Amino acid sequence: MIKNMCPCGSEKSYEACCEVYHKHLNAPTCEALMRSRYSAFVFSLVDYLFETTHPSYRSKTLKEEIAFTCKGLAWTGLSVLETWQGGLSDKVGKVSFRATFVQEGREGVHVEHSRFKRFGKAWMYVDGKVE
Ligand SMILES: [Zn+2]
Repeated sequence: MIKNMCPCGSEKSYEACCEVYHKHLNAPTCEALMRSRYSAFVFSLVDYLFETTHPSYRSKTLKEEIAFTCKGLAWTGLSVLETWQGGLSDKVGKVSFRATFVQEGREGVHVEHSRFKRFGKAWMYVDGKVE
């Protein structure tokens, strides 16, 4: 068993996985960004979640919304269901995922189809359709 397992489900240590992106904002693919955003929700990294949202899609209250979600939900697991484009040479990408959480003692499931766009060199989250 690896010490400090990354919460994103990669079965790598946090240091060898999402922490690199949390420090340097350089996730190479949409899936890596999506996983690192999930881990950021687990660790309440509000600034990272804000900064990896595409600037054209940042609402005025985005930071408050992220902080609210971080505070209210305890995320318990992630599975990536499907990815579309979002690779090293792509400009857009999509990731579908299923995340489980506990809110006020009750278990819940969040299934989302997220869209991403490249912004300069970095991938950024655009928005997501929640099932
Ligand atoms: Zn990770």
